[in-house]
Amino acid sequence: MEYKYGNTLIRIKQGYREIGGNFIIIEDKDNTLVFDQGIRFSRFKKYYNVNIQPSSASELRRLGIIPPSDEFNKIYISHLHLDHLGVLHLLNVGTLLHVPDKDTFNQFIEPYKESDNWTTYISPPLGVNVIDIRDNQDGVLPLQVEHSAYPAYSFYYNNGDVRILYSGDLRLSSPLKVADQELHDRIHEKTLLEEYEERGLDTDVLIIEGTNFSSAISPLQPHYFNEQVNNIFENHGNSLIMVSIDPIDLEELAYLLLVAKEKGRIPVFSGRRLIKMASFWISKFNLTDKAYQFDDKSIEFEIIDEEEIIRSPQDYVIFTVKGNLIDFGRRLSEIIKGSAVISLSTESKAESGEDESVEDNWYKALGFIIYRLRISGHYYPYELRTILEYIKPKKVIPIHTEAPLTMCEYINKLGYSCAENLP
Ligand SMILES: [Zn+2]
Repeated sequence: MEYKYGNTLIRIKQGYREIGGNFIIIEDKDNTLVFDQGIRFSRFKKYYNVNIQPSSASELRRLGIIPPSDEFNKIYISHLHLDHLGVLHLLNVGTLLHVPDKDTFNQFIEPYKESDNWTTYISPPLGVNVIDIRDNQDGVLPLQVEHSAYPAYSFYYNNGDVRILYSGDLRLSSPLKVADQELHDRIHEKTLLEEYEERGLDTDVLIIEGTNFSSAISPLQPHYFNEQVNNIFENHGNSLIMVSIDPIDLEELAYLLLVAKEKGRIPVFSGRRLIKMASFWISKFNLTDKAYQFDDKSIEFEIIDEEEIIRSPQDYVIFTVKGNLIDFGRRLSEIIKGSAVISLSTESKAESGEDESVEDNWYKALGFIIYRLRISGHYYPYELRTILEYIKPKKVIPIHTEAPLTMCEYINKLGYSCAENLP
């Protein structure tokens, strides 16, 4: 998809009529900017499985799974989901890589550096210049949004010729916002719509995600999700409760730590990646006073042993990432049968490349009671109206959806106009 506005060319090279793998190039007389350079997991799954793994980053590029972003030297990443961040390994020395919060990026990328599979290509080579997005170069204004990865940004770009808003991925509400406004506001800067209201920004072209326009199952509303979590904690009061969570989803973690505290349970972290991210978030935002971890290569919290958990399961909540929970269950299955598992899946398969059916089979085999709760990182289709009323774009380009034309029909009905593809 290519669209010209004045002397500015907008090229949606990946992420049009597909979910994930965004790669957007904005070209004007002074600048060529890249917004996101994600992995296309829908293509990834065509070529790889457990037996066949990527042999190099260039192979991924050859197969059209990652974009040729090494042809560009100014790259902006909206958030750290892999369908936006992508594989950084092929970037040239001297590339200016703008990331959402440099500290978070460094924490996030660290484990990939030591990875012994293809995910090691996710980390950038030495010599790539990693810059915090808020350092605001080339006239790109980052505006924070809510999403299931933290932090996440939309980009507002005004080159004097055209004013573009690239939405990244966003939702309008979240479990944390519903549960604890104060904590929510501590974590978030002003978000997109508030910024628009305050700054009175004008927009010619809106490039907006539409993930939930092609999603078959509507995800849970935040208040309903919160009610479910509360019910689980209330009624499994005597059992161990385990939660599998994405380490980059700060809001979900903060919300569940809140619930754990209310119910008098102490969080226990398991799995290196989660231990590191959780420790980073907890100290940055002061999320809990007390937490433990299981023994691990990295030690961030006081260590607790499994015997203690077995003695008083009702006092703890185990936070872990997916594979880990199954290992834990395999070791202790006889003792913790009948425990409750809250498995949080935030994104659609096309975004994360994960298949959850194997896990589900394990949970069943291990005798766990599973609650798979899906809360979306994306706005609901009916919320598009509110977004458009704030942004008032002259033209809209729907991306990150399998149904751009359906979106356009709806956008027209709301009194706005979709951009026509260049002939
Ligand atoms: Zn995302």
